[in-house]
Amino acid sequence: MALTGLEIYKHLPKTNCGECGVPTCLAFAMKLAQKQTSLDKCPHVTEQAKEALEGASAPPIKLITIGVGDNKVEAGNETVLFRHEETFYHPTALAVSVDAALPESELAARVKQINGLVFDRVGQRIGVGLVALRGSADAAQFAAAAKAVAANTDLGLVLLNDDPAAMEAAVKEVAARKPLIYAATAANADEMARIAKASSCPLAIRADSLSDLAALSQKVQGLGVTDLVLDSGAREPVKVLGDQTLIRRAALRKKFRPLGFPTIVFTSANSPEDEVMQATQYVAKYAGILVTNAVEPWQLIAILTARQNIFTDPQKPIQLEAGLYQVGEPTATSPVLTTTNFSLTYFTVEGDVEASRVPSWIVVVDTEGTSVLTAWASEKFTADTIAAAIKKTGVEEKVSHRKIVIPGGVAVLSGKLQEASGWQVLVGPRESSGIPTYLKSTWQG
Ligand code: SF4
Repeated sequence: MALTGLEIYKHLPKTNCGECGVPTCLAFAMKLAQKQTSLDKCPHVTEQAKEALEGASAPPIKLITIGVGDNKVEAGNETVLFRHEETFYHPTALAVSVDAALPESELAARVKQINGLVFDRVGQRIGVGLVALRGSADAAQFAAAAKAVAANTDLGLVLLNDDPAAMEAAVKEVAARKPLIYAATAANADEMARIAKASSCPLAIRADSLSDLAALSQKVQGLGVTDLVLDSGAREPVKVLGDQTLIRRAALRKKFRPLGFPTIVFTSANSPEDEVMQATQYVAKYAGILVTNAVEPWQLIAILTARQNIFTDPQKPIQLEAGLYQVGEPTATSPVLTTTNFSLTYFTVEGDVEASRVPSWIVVVDTEGTSVLTAWASEKFTADTIAAAIKKTGVEEKVSHRKIVIPGGVAVLSGKLQEASGWQVLVGPRESSGIPTYLKSTWQG
């Protein structure tokens, strides 16, 4: 949470020398609180004050980056316990595991399968972000597997191995990809911290209790590694959820710095269905990184769909750009339908038009991402806005007829729209699911 001007003022020299460009320390503190200046403008601020001020203004859950370039994954920097309080910012990074002991060709095939776990849903691309390589103490095998995984994917990497020698060998192969090193424990913390520090890679730490985890966090930070990811060691779902909640509360409500980092959790289910159930629970509360064995598309679609919904800003409906869309290869005599730019509405309509196998045009009206009836009630989906969209989208140049199908729920707009647009208005079904039958049996161009 940001500091107030008075809180900042307490740490300043209070000499009012004016060298920072403002006449008094208090005025400088006020400007600093409003982010209109920076602390380095005061040449007299002590190191101790600097540390206190920078520490106090740090986010309660540190942002951690795994990977590089376009495929980097960020976790942390969350500000609320409940999504409705504001929003969740960084979607749980999904990591699918690969066993380092697999023969080379099988390992490559598994990684390629993971690469393909990307889907289009309501106009967004959702997918797996990380490959987690699970290894043994065989350093040469683990390093070779890390190299092979990196060669077969552009996704970020997580290296799972408690053996420092094996970890060091693997990190040497893929350090440029900035993998997450997992994990430092009480037994190997010095070695793992040394490897993480030398390679500038983030480090996951694991303990058997939250108090041990906090102590380990302080120890590792003392060793110079400050990009951390936390594993409470729990694998039983009830305990995992309890720990995740306590860590989030400690970081946000108590500003408890040792636990102010994103978390990593592991699914541990015996059946593919339970794997999905566990994963979606952990996405909801509050995994920063989730390592799963799920690799089937049906499993990932379910987990990613849950993630997409949970990490959607509740104050901003998912919307697509207004304009003219086509389904199939429509011609000058194809049907023209209209709907709103609320993604869930549009993609439902699009799916039903597609199911009809009647190539069509869809005029999408900008209703600020609201559904048909909401937009109509708030006067965003009216005769005038639809008529304006007809003009703006240029659909008149695409078709030879002048007929537009409106949703049955707003049949009341027919007369006015006909007047405003000069188009013949046809009232379509009330529910989108009626579109296939409507287009096949009722529409006549
Ligand atoms: Fe105060 Fe520092 Fe500004 Fe001088 S330079 S007025 S000490 S804040």
